[in-house]
Amino acid sequence: MTTPEPLNFTTQIVHADRWGGAEHGAIHKPIHTSVQYGYERVEDLIAVFQGTAKGGFNYARQGTPTTAALEAKITQMEGGTGTVCFATGMAGICAIFLTLLKAGDHLVASRFVFGNTNSVLGTLADLGIEVSTVDVTDSAEVAAALRPNTRMVFVETIANPGTQIPDLAAIGQLCRDRGLLYVVDNTVASPYLFRPAAVGAGLVVNSLTKSIAGQGGALGGAVTDTGLFDWSAYPNIFAAYRKGDARGWGLQQLRKKGLRDMGATLSSQAAHQIALGAETLALRMDRTSATALALAQWLEQQPGVARVLYPMLPSHPQHARAQQWLRAGSWLLSFELADPSRCMEFCNRLRLPIKATGLADTRTLIIPVAHTIFWEAGPAVRASMGIADGMIRLSVGLEDPADLIADLAQALA
Ligand SMILES: *Cc1c(COP(=O)(O)O)cnc(C)c1O
Repeated sequence: MTTPEPLNFTTQIVHADRWGGAEHGAIHKPIHTSVQYGYERVEDLIAVFQGTAKGGFNYARQGTPTTAALEAKITQMEGGTGTVCFATGMAGICAIFLTLLKAGDHLVASRFVFGNTNSVLGTLADLGIEVSTVDVTDSAEVAAALRPNTRMVFVETIANPGTQIPDLAAIGQLCRDRGLLYVVDNTVASPYLFRPAAVGAGLVVNSLTKSIAGQGGALGGAVTDTGLFDWSAYPNIFAAYRKGDARGWGLQQLRKKGLRDMGATLSSQAAHQIALGAETLALRMDRTSATALALAQWLEQQPGVARVLYPMLPSHPQHARAQQWLRAGSWLLSFELADPSRCMEFCNRLRLPIKATGLADTRTLIIPVAHTIFWEAGPAVRASMGIADGMIRLSVGLEDPADLIADLAQALA
């Protein structure tokens, strides 16, 4: 059955499995647990190995029919040409860096990135890859950092935890002009709020653990090719993958080197759970974004709160950009108390937000950032990332907004 076009976001996701041909009439894609895939004719096995067969599986480290069905859904959501799934978002990010960069290359990365991504940047420097971290809210800083050996620019759509929004379109233009691979981590926004293809991204990263799975019950990651980058001009594609249509070269190398060699494979069980979560992505993003905006507006009026960081507040430094590109502001909201020494007491008085790391669960999660996820980074790095000692991050869940506001009010009192 072929896909009837055009379908809107959620319709597309909930019917996606049928277009590939439902197995035994199963409404949901089955969980395939076979590690081995066999063929009647050895020629068919050879075709799978040599990549001349369309689709086809050989060993589950490189994917199964269940992970492939999820990859197809994410490709549709991001408006891309293909996707490779990984065991976690970090596995996807590491696969991009380690399979597409070489010693002597230069990477320009956002200074405002997820803490573990920041940690990987340090590892890359030790492997001989030069890394510059810049304030990507200003594209002039990115332009000034470029060198003759720059290969890639890496940003997050809505940075965690400071909610900075890069100059997404201007950086895209810069990358197009210079032939650079533009990688956008779209984890917080998700393809429902924003598609990085719209600003010229070549690769899009999603930690499926967060917005897309959305229930705090499965880890996963995905890298999607938007089809906008010219892989034939990219020097780091191995000779073995410089065959056939150049549009597939990047993902082919990511699958072979990132999954086959490095082995951070998404299980079929997790892929199934993530696919179920993806069906309610739009509903959850609408709900949590509306609640987060209500909380942000309320917090901004409280004398006990010094600063609120939320893209859809007019006070946000990149508010105009957020309005231009994002459908809504997402579940990520950070704020600072007027008296940072009250941070622990405030968190402890809250009854609903759960003191935990993690993002995009169905329950609201709260964490003091400097003392936990950015503790290892140290004070100098925290200061350069705009993380104040009293910064508190909320991942807003599905609770009724009035209950959350009442709880915040009693804790602030
Ligand atoms: C959580 C997160 C990641 C890493 O994803 P995992 O699935 O936890 O490995 C990457 N980028 C951002 C922006 C994240 O929030």
